[in-house]
Amino acid sequence: MTESLPVLCRGLPRRPLLGLALLTALAPHVRAADPLSAVLDPAARVETLYDEGEWCEGPVWLPALGGLVFSDVRRNRMMLIREDDRAEVFREPSNNANGNTLDAEGRLITCEHRTSRVVRRETDGAITVLAERYDGGRLNSPNDAVVARDGAIWFTDPTYGIDQAEEGIPRPSEQKGRFVFRRAPDGSLTVTTDRFVQPNGLAFSPDERILYVSESGTREGAPGRIRAFDVSDGQLSNERVFATVSKGVPDGLKVDTGGRVYAGTGDGVRIWSADGRPVGHIPTEGPCANIAFGGPDGRRLFLCAGKRVLAVETKVRGATTRT
Ligand code: MG
Repeated sequence: MTESLPVLCRGLPRRPLLGLALLTALAPHVRAADPLSAVLDPAARVETLYDEGEWCEGPVWLPALGGLVFSDVRRNRMMLIREDDRAEVFREPSNNANGNTLDAEGRLITCEHRTSRVVRRETDGAITVLAERYDGGRLNSPNDAVVARDGAIWFTDPTYGIDQAEEGIPRPSEQKGRFVFRRAPDGSLTVTTDRFVQPNGLAFSPDERILYVSESGTREGAPGRIRAFDVSDGQLSNERVFATVSKGVPDGLKVDTGGRVYAGTGDGVRIWSADGRPVGHIPTEGPCANIAFGGPDGRRLFLCAGKRVLAVETKVRGATTRT
């Protein structure tokens, strides 16, 4: 198994982004016999697209814009990197937005820390609030979301945006826990699990029969784990540990069409097969928070790692077009 890939820093200068960025490229080495070779070509290079962020999260490819939107959570803005690698401000202030995803109509769904909301950006740029309160209280700070084929939006609601001033506005929680919610197409919210200290990233298997959820709030030094649940009629069952992360905790999750699970972790992207066997590791300098498939052919994997946004061409595609 390829658990520790060498990284080659080439220091390639490319066109400046926002006037300052000096771009580098990282090179994971993939041996032909490794399971990672089904995901990455041995010649694959991890490019730095942007390094002017403070804390980058929530990448999502927007076909309508021909670019990648991501959240610079602590700088309170969202950015857009177009196909030619130009970066521009997309939304500012962003209410300390974090996770982003798309619905079936290609509209941007965004989790906001500062306002404790999940919102939708309409095609005219207007913001529609989709979720804000539950059981009489404000949500904590929605972190990440995914849209199911039935139109339901599943999202996590940990407390990072109300615990830390740089991530939102500190205040007491008004919820009885840190839940994973399902917002039905009629707008109603239900708690699908209350079994997390801090639920974080989430992703469905290609057939949407399994939901993977990252646990990023460990107790007493316990390892960070990704849990899996069976999904049926909008409800979760058969909770089990899918994978354990050795460095840091798991954050954003994605699944490819082959059912492999990708997680942003403390030392880069970790990848497992659908049955939980390690596939490989794409290292980053420092933690990698979130990932997304995109690009014109859907085969580019984008990584948000601290102040940087990185990209690598893969041999695979994300499980859904709604990355
Ligand atoms: Mg997250």
